[in-house]
Amino acid sequence: MVHVGIGYDVHQLVAGRKLVLGGVEIPHPKGLDGHSDADALMHAICDAVLGALGEEDIGHFFPNTDPRWKGVPSKMFFEEAAKQVAKRGAKIINIDATVIAQAPKIYPHIAEMKNRIAAALGILPAKVGVKATTNETMGFIGREEGIAAMAVASVNLPE
Ligand code: MG
Repeated sequence: MVHVGIGYDVHQLVAGRKLVLGGVEIPHPKGLDGHSDADALMHAICDAVLGALGEEDIGHFFPNTDPRWKGVPSKMFFEEAAKQVAKRGAKIINIDATVIAQAPKIYPHIAEMKNRIAAALGILPAKVGVKATTNETMGFIGREEGIAAMAVASVNLPE
């Protein structure tokens, strides 16, 4: 049976933080604020995979009140999601995601993001879609106060 899941995440852009999206460090004067590396793209994908399994979200597996997850790379969250997939004898069919950022330009980093996401999930890069759009200067994303990401995952679950 094919199950689908959806994920959404957003983090604030602040000075003095690295900008990490899809596991790729992108040169930018501001970075995403959060307990972990605040990789909104990886978080959205992780929730999509967990959602397809009917599991709770990453905040349940990795509470942001737990000092163990402070500053950790988000591929650790993927390892947990991949573990949950394997536990059920399931298989990720594909992932698709969109980053919504006014700046910086995301497109030049997409190929590397796909590689990193695929590697962390243990699937082929061809199974991972990553797109990017600006918010046409509107709202908090348009004002460069934050970056959001949304994702869907389809997972083949044994009946
Ligand atoms: Mg997050």
